[in-house]
Amino acid sequence: MDLHFDNSFVRELPPDPERRNHRRQVKNACFSFVDPTPVSSPRVVACAAEVAALLGLTPDACNTDVFAQVFGGNRLAPGMESYAACYGGHQFGNWAGQLGDGRAISLGEVTHDNQRWELQLKGAGPTPYSRTADGRAVMRSSVREFLCSEAMHHLGVPTTRALSLVATGDSVVRDMFYDGNPQPELGAVVCRVAPSFLRFGNFEIFSARQEHDVLKMLADYAITTHFPDLGKPSPTVYVEWLEEVCRRTAIMIVHWMRVGFVHGVMNTDNMSLLGLTIDYGPYGWLDNYDPNWTPNTTDAGGKRYRYGYQPQIAHWNLARFAEAIYPLVGDVEPLEAALQVYSQTFEREQRVMMAQKLGLEEHQASSDDAEAGGDEATGGDSALVEELLDVLQLIETDMTIFYRQLAKIPAEIPSTPADEPCESSDDELLAPLMDAYYAPEELTEPHRQRTLAWLRRYVARVREDGTRDGVRLARMNAVNPKYVLRNYVAQLAIDKAEQGDGSLVQELLNVMRHPYDEQPAREEYARKRPEWARHRPGCSMLSCSS
Ligand code: AMP
Ligand code: MG
Repeated sequence: MDLHFDNSFVRELPPDPERRNHRRQVKNACFSFVDPTPVSSPRVVACAAEVAALLGLTPDACNTDVFAQVFGGNRLAPGMESYAACYGGHQFGNWAGQLGDGRAISLGEVTHDNQRWELQLKGAGPTPYSRTADGRAVMRSSVREFLCSEAMHHLGVPTTRALSLVATGDSVVRDMFYDGNPQPELGAVVCRVAPSFLRFGNFEIFSARQEHDVLKMLADYAITTHFPDLGKPSPTVYVEWLEEVCRRTAIMIVHWMRVGFVHGVMNTDNMSLLGLTIDYGPYGWLDNYDPNWTPNTTDAGGKRYRYGYQPQIAHWNLARFAEAIYPLVGDVEPLEAALQVYSQTFEREQRVMMAQKLGLEEHQASSDDAEAGGDEATGGDSALVEELLDVLQLIETDMTIFYRQLAKIPAEIPSTPADEPCESSDDELLAPLMDAYYAPEELTEPHRQRTLAWLRRYVARVREDGTRDGVRLARMNAVNPKYVLRNYVAQLAIDKAEQGDGSLVQELLNVMRHPYDEQPAREEYARKRPEWARHRPGCSMLSCSS
């Protein structure tokens, strides 16, 4: 396999001197060297050709036995130096101490076309950070990570990528429902790929342990390697770095909100330093628009990580990151100021994003205009958006379908003679939206009137812009996906993969390569959640068991 490695992480950062693979607290080290534990019969279930290309591999390379051996964890290719990183994190709001790569093993960093790509196996066996668990991953969660990483990428959401999904041939025992009924399941290993898998938690651990010299080494490494534009690390640069992390995180969250993605476990150890979506666990996609929804059954009580609360949680997590790097700056005030970059970026990007989802011109919706108070459109659009988000919750409304159908609503002023009616009737106006409703009969007269009132306001607003319907449709369809990785659709692929048939995984990867395009032969994957999937585990409720 022709991969070129440049393993900066293990070269530049302090290693754990202990080489034996046993569970422990690892002090004063950024990582521990550890080899993947071999599996009995690795078989490639799916491979993402685009990701292979990023690494300089041909698609054929994925079909070889050597590929299955390497990416199933049975052997290291030349140049690989495998390790597990040490990190901590705040889980559900509480400091959890050392966590670390408990089942992720990095293989090294490939450089290709002037880019750096860390390769990391997930489910490749125990590491010093495995605590009480086995270091393995099951097929269902691996299919979910593989497909969603790639789906998110093609949707334009910053994310870690996935190269391969390999069945191990071994079984892994999991108590999926946490009800004292553990079952053997198929094991799998995903190879994920990103410039770096550094998380907020990698910095928090050294701060919490007051290992400030290691903290500084890691921060300087991260800045020099992954934020080179910031220049030579210094207290000022650490603050600018925080600003950049805030900016990237805000942009990532706005994308999540745009496509209806709920991460499910936004602990600080699952927050990427690079602003990438990372650690696909009990995530989910909104079917009906419900800001209070979370797929994670472990979080069903507090719903800390519900869809509508993700922006606030990201801010909370960034504050933990700011605290972690405080020893490098020694002054609270600039860090607090830097944190505001998050809210500023989020608010601005969110406004732009909603305007795009609705196909509206932005009317220079900058904060300057808002302050000047002169831009009626800015204020008008925020009221329009707020009312929409209420209207979407009147009855169960499929978010993805709604925006695609909204794009079809005629708004253009018809250039017809004056004696022709130029207003759509109520039924005409509502017709495209009917597809988005889970139970159209629940649209009672008051709901209908409120929806119509919003639609008329929307049409009036589109007319202010004078956008032609065809232009608006194209613009809206470029930001409102037709296809997302619907929870129940992913589950169908899992059901097959668990029977040894990876064909639907491959098919969904293909579908998700063009999420904004109409794909007439694949309408079935764009359908709203069927009734059987409403309460089926894996389809709307996910446990952390993976
Ligand atoms: P997660 O909730 O998946 O982000 O995981 C939280 C922590 O638990 C991380 O340190 C993981 O590496 C670790 N972990 C999760 N599942 C396993 C497992 N099966 N074996 C070992 N460690 C695990
Ligand atoms: Mg994690």
